[in-house]
Amino acid sequence: MFDYKLEIDEQKCSGCGLCAEVCPILALDFDPERNKAYVHDISQCLICRQCTDVCPVGAVIMEGGYWMEDMITS
Ligand code: SF4
Ligand code: SF4
Repeated sequence: MFDYKLEIDEQKCSGCGLCAEVCPILALDFDPERNKAYVHDISQCLICRQCTDVCPVGAVIMEGGYWMEDMITS
């Protein structure tokens, strides 16, 4: 079951753009007009966690990951 959550906490986001730079597949992107990152296409996300690792303020919220559960139970 798809229970994966990926969100940007806009209150925390400082607009550095690093998460969109490291994302290998544009699941996250950056809006220069609003100076905030945003989730572009969650279905593309590889759950590599580079975005959470690089964010200096902890604004990328990532929870769950159905594929990990599938791997454990299969
Ligand atoms: S986990 Fe990886 S693929 Fe998913 S949004 Fe973050 S950097 Fe992109
Ligand atoms: S890395 Fe964090 S602070 Fe920088 S744009 Fe992405 S969410 Fe915002």
